[in-house]
Amino acid sequence: MRADEEQAAGATRMHEVSDETINLVDLVLEYSRQRILSTDTPLDGPLPEAELARLAGETIVEDGIGAHRALTLFADVLAPACITTDHPQYLSFIPTAPTKAATAFDLVVSASAVYGGSWLEGSGAVFAENQVLSWLAGEFGLPSTAGGVFVQGGTLGNLSALVAARDHARAELETVGAVQPARWRVVCSAEAHSSIASAARVMDIEVVPVVPSEGGMLTGENVRPALEEHGDSVFAVVATAGSTNFGIVDDVASIAALKEEFGFWLHVDGAYGLAGMLSPLVRHRFAGVEHADSVIVDPHKWLFAPFDACALIYRDPEAGRRAHTQHAEYLDTLTETAEWSPSDYAAHLTRRARGLPLWFSLATYGAAAYRDAVTASLRLTQDIAREIESRAGFRLVREPQLSVVVFERDGWSRADYADWSARLLAEQRAFVTPSSHAGRPNTRFAILNPMTTFEQLVGILDTM
Ligand SMILES: *Cc1c(COP(=O)(O)O)cnc(C)c1O
Repeated sequence: MRADEEQAAGATRMHEVSDETINLVDLVLEYSRQRILSTDTPLDGPLPEAELARLAGETIVEDGIGAHRALTLFADVLAPACITTDHPQYLSFIPTAPTKAATAFDLVVSASAVYGGSWLEGSGAVFAENQVLSWLAGEFGLPSTAGGVFVQGGTLGNLSALVAARDHARAELETVGAVQPARWRVVCSAEAHSSIASAARVMDIEVVPVVPSEGGMLTGENVRPALEEHGDSVFAVVATAGSTNFGIVDDVASIAALKEEFGFWLHVDGAYGLAGMLSPLVRHRFAGVEHADSVIVDPHKWLFAPFDACALIYRDPEAGRRAHTQHAEYLDTLTETAEWSPSDYAAHLTRRARGLPLWFSLATYGAAAYRDAVTASLRLTQDIAREIESRAGFRLVREPQLSVVVFERDGWSRADYADWSARLLAEQRAFVTPSSHAGRPNTRFAILNPMTTFEQLVGILDTM
């Protein structure tokens, strides 16, 4: 072959359907099939960079190492250096526990090269995603006109909602010809998620943290003085519907009751906890969410979808669209129509149709299966809380409201928890990290994997 012919062959090799391609696709699908159907994937754990460098070597070279070697390297070296977040005894942070349907369908989303940013390019996918968002909005008591978009995670969801909220406040003041505040403020609980502070830094606004009531629940009474002090500069109040550390749901109804008097945008951060509304056991805790101007919930947490997805829903989607639509000559054909383009509702443009794994799973199993799975987590959490309470030398830090139980072992120092946690992982028994509250060390179980059992949790307590 002449040099230019060789180059042309090289250029198409990665895209054409050849024996090499077929083998590679089979290899990857077979690996995926095994991983999805495996019931004994170990917990695994991190390795130091030097160790990974030694084991993996240089993988990026001019002529490639080939699919077989690359996949073997992934299976034998790289994957075991990643903690198995859907393991039933992964109980740290907020775990993930995607359904088999959701995980499997994630492969389909990748295979289909769907552009999820615009109706023009992805109408079928956007339609299905919007059905899921509508269903969620209905569960949260929002009007049928509510809508939004699946973004990457709760951090981006909170940021996008707050940007829309500030835009709305600016426009309101402009309409009446009032002066804009020198500094915008958002009020939230002192126990709100760190992503609210992160959004505030990005937006160059101020967070007014309010100390919640005893037990960690923010109420209207807690919020009122901050609203009185800061007046029109407060454009939003964030209520947390399931704090990450404790699963505490703020008293949304009493906060919402202040809206008329003070005229703020109510954002509900339910990244973890809002899924609890699916269960009749705790639905009452979320009274008032129906008054929210925006909400978020992460399907990659308690809605059993794979990473990464956050459902961002606006009561009035127009407010989101006005704040976020990007304008450019090459985009005019998309933005000068009334069609629903998901890109317009958050701080992003190109997007994966990341709501589709949840759509496929919900369509497959039905909403009732989701209610049952959420209820099961709540029941198991209560069972293990009662067990902890009854054990000498153990103490609940707070009564669990959702599916997080935080507890102390009498006399344990930070180092005791850290040693114990490291030992559990080294023995591949469980992933339970140390935590703390009000300066006191503790640990917590975040329980949302339906495959987690009471016996497994008792087994972990027995190691303390
Ligand atoms: C997890 C969480 C977030 C952040 O979500 P990411 O998807 O990790 O960005 C925000 N708020 C709460 C209450 C959370 O639990």
